Amino acid sequence: MNDARPPSTAALIVAAGRGTRAGGGLPKQWRALGGRTVADHAIGVFAAHPAVTRIVVVLHPDDIGGDHLPDLPNATVVPGGATRADSVRAGLEALEGIADRVLIHDAARPLVSGTLIDRVLTALDTHTAAAPGLAVVDALWTGSETVTGTMPRDGLWRAQTPQGFHLAAILAAHRARTGDAADDVEVARAAGLDVAIVAGEEDNLKITRAEDFDRARRLMGGAMDIRMGHGYDVHRFGDGASVTLCGVDVPHARGLEGHSDADVGMHALTDAIYGALAEGDIGRHFPPSDPQWKGADSAVFLAHAADLAAKRGFGPGNADVTLICEHPKIGPHADAMRARLAEIMGWPVDRISVKATTSERLGFTGREEGIAATATCALVAR
Ligand code: MG
Repeated sequence: MNDARPPSTAALIVAAGRGTRAGGGLPKQWRALGGRTVADHAIGVFAAHPAVTRIVVVLHPDDIGGDHLPDLPNATVVPGGATRADSVRAGLEALEGIADRVLIHDAARPLVSGTLIDRVLTALDTHTAAAPGLAVVDALWTGSETVTGTMPRDGLWRAQTPQGFHLAAILAAHRARTGDAADDVEVARAAGLDVAIVAGEEDNLKITRAEDFDRARRLMGGAMDIRMGHGYDVHRFGDGASVTLCGVDVPHARGLEGHSDADVGMHALTDAIYGALAEGDIGRHFPPSDPQWKGADSAVFLAHAADLAAKRGFGPGNADVTLICEHPKIGPHADAMRARLAEIMGWPVDRISVKATTSERLGFTGREEGIAATATCALVAR
């Protein structure tokens, strides 16, 4: 070819599996690892690689339209098929004519490195197909409860991804394929393609079992990712015979005015969580212009914020709410408030504090025109 243009490279991330062997009830690619999903780590490495100009992510049809994926420019989502091979083919079809080369990668390998991608791409300069492998170094046995035999390990490799191909060749191989395949090297070889082996990386592990998460966290250096948020709210006194504070009804000579149940403490805490996630405030998620939130139980807002944190991979650090008022007296109700907040958030109660202060009869809270609340919250990446 006399084409002087360098070849363009797409990444095809296969994230359509339903595998839940790793625990947690979610497909493993959507489980949290250091504050992001497993798939997000994998996608991020390709998104950051200078040679990759296009990313296709193959999702299970049930996951399309969900909030699993971060917004990525140059990324396209494609629904997967009944088998892994069908899913890859769907992604390849979407890339036809768009790229010269494709790197096919399992989303469950979050620690793929840029240098491993470089090695595969370099091999594709001289080969139609190239994939990383690790030579087997352990002795191999056969058997179940007892060893029934041994096997030679010479010439055996453990296959990894990304597996790289000239796009037209692997697309033709997938179109000619019948049945599923363990990986795309198997599909390529069935079509007669030679596949070069490049050096894989031990750290490029495939997350399969629960203990793999611990290993991946250790490999990531165990860096703590802690997010802090702050919230502040005020509600004015009005007619009524009780106020709702941190989910507890407290008898009082007056009520609090507001669009929802006017739970000023819960609003401050909810905003602190949104703040820690850089997700705006209650008004953004539950617009006061929307009549369905009129008189709403503020537990809906707090549960939404706590759930959003969990979906982003953040668990309890701690939360601390301060109610600012002369009356009613908060102390006798503080433990009930902590218990109710813990129940709504799904956090241990010993991570949640509720306390109160007066403002020494100064200002609007001192004049008993209303109640103010502040809250801080720390979230820790799981
Ligand atoms: Mg409010």
